[in-house]
Amino acid sequence: MASSPRFDLPTIESETRPFWEAAKNGKLLLGKCNSCELVHYYPRPMCPKCWSEDVSLVPASGRGEIYTYSTVYVNDLPPFNARLPYVAAQVDLEEGVRITTNIVECEIADLEIGMPVELRFQAISEDVTIPVFAPRRS
Ligand SMILES: [Zn+2]
Repeated sequence: MASSPRFDLPTIESETRPFWEAAKNGKLLLGKCNSCELVHYYPRPMCPKCWSEDVSLVPASGRGEIYTYSTVYVNDLPPFNARLPYVAAQVDLEEGVRITTNIVECEIADLEIGMPVELRFQAISEDVTIPVFAPRRS
């Protein structure tokens, strides 16, 4: 079956496989340094602050707030062109990290900087589920 090229799928490698497996199971993993306790995102094999290699993966609470956002009306690349308009955003998680993501389940006119949001997951292929955020209801 012929299919259009896709520009939204990550290349999953051995280092990133645990992150993507967890996302499929409804968990967003952050990196945490066991030496200086800094939480970082995206998860890295080495702490970005103290360079310790003693890092773990920890699940995010899923609560955060919108730091900034932009409504995307034009994007020619598939499959984004079929999703227009969509909201690209940066969300500050309560763990202190900022994640680039999409906001879903929200009218564009209702979006606000600082809006409390909570984690959702969207399966975008058989192998890939991505973290997205929706207005917080709890
Ligand atoms: Zn550290």
